Amino acid sequence: MEKAPAKLNLLLDTPFHHADGSEEWDMVLTSVDLADLVTIKTLGRNGRIKVMTDTGFLPNDRRNLAYQAAALLANTYHRKEAVNITIEKHIPVAAGMGGGSADAAAVLRGLNRLWSLNLTPAQLCELGLKIDADVPYCVWSQTAHVTGRGEQVEPLPELPPMWLVIAKPQTSVSTPSILRQINYGRLEHASTPHLLAAIHASDYDGICQATANVLTPITARRYPVVQRLKTQMLRFGADAAEMTGTGPTVYGICRKRSRAQRVANGLAGFCREVYVVRPVRLGAAVQLSEAPC
Ligand code: ATP
Repeated sequence: MEKAPAKLNLLLDTPFHHADGSEEWDMVLTSVDLADLVTIKTLGRNGRIKVMTDTGFLPNDRRNLAYQAAALLANTYHRKEAVNITIEKHIPVAAGMGGGSADAAAVLRGLNRLWSLNLTPAQLCELGLKIDADVPYCVWSQTAHVTGRGEQVEPLPELPPMWLVIAKPQTSVSTPSILRQINYGRLEHASTPHLLAAIHASDYDGICQATANVLTPITARRYPVVQRLKTQMLRFGADAAEMTGTGPTVYGICRKRSRAQRVANGLAGFCREVYVVRPVRLGAAVQLSEAPC
């Protein structure tokens, strides 16, 4: 069984977009202990890929990113075994928490092991990018600076002790619909060097000051609940509050668990889906001695 942790954007910026329309990213991501559980079994030789999830609304066919990951590895390395993938879903869907990408990365890691392919993390990242921009990061699933189209993943030191309150509003956001609204001439860019310096110095306050997401104003314009949640989190005592990915999920940062719980309790009237989590690093699941992507 593979753990597929959710990701949060401590920072999200996009300096420009490429001629093919894809975004250039500048992101700092971390993973949290809210994870899907992905069980992978290989059997027989009929080459069939089957995905089962415990939700009624996720696609089980090739639209599922976990399916795509298995098909990509099987085609690339000419594997004929059938693959059965069972996903126990815990990460909210279409929430900006990279759930589909986490599942895909878990399948890449799992099949790499089951089929003894001995692919390095860099090779898994290269394959993962063909599925989604967040998959290379999810191959690592530890705090990292991610650039390029998502394929350049530079692992960072562990974060200082902190608790995160995650609030997922009822509404789901389509990532492409938000990305289409970016006006590159008007974006207020974030200061990645400040956040990287704070992480390297294990400076909790510096991290809180430097979290940023240039897409927040775009999503918040269409979904005012994003700004409301940020304001409420700060009011109830979070040291920082920001949106992850294209939203609508908002997270708050607290030094102590008791404070995080207070923030979560305070949100009860505003948001039904609230989690109190900590950063995690999968690390050991991939060979950390390998060069990053
Ligand atoms: P994005 O990577 O687009 O920012 P997200 O993190 O906001 O995505 P996901 O939970 O990955 O959100 O879901 C995005 C879309 O991917 C959904 O519409 C969903 O139907 C589809 N999807 C495909 N496979 C999966 C999967 N295994 N888990 C969750 N969603 C999946």
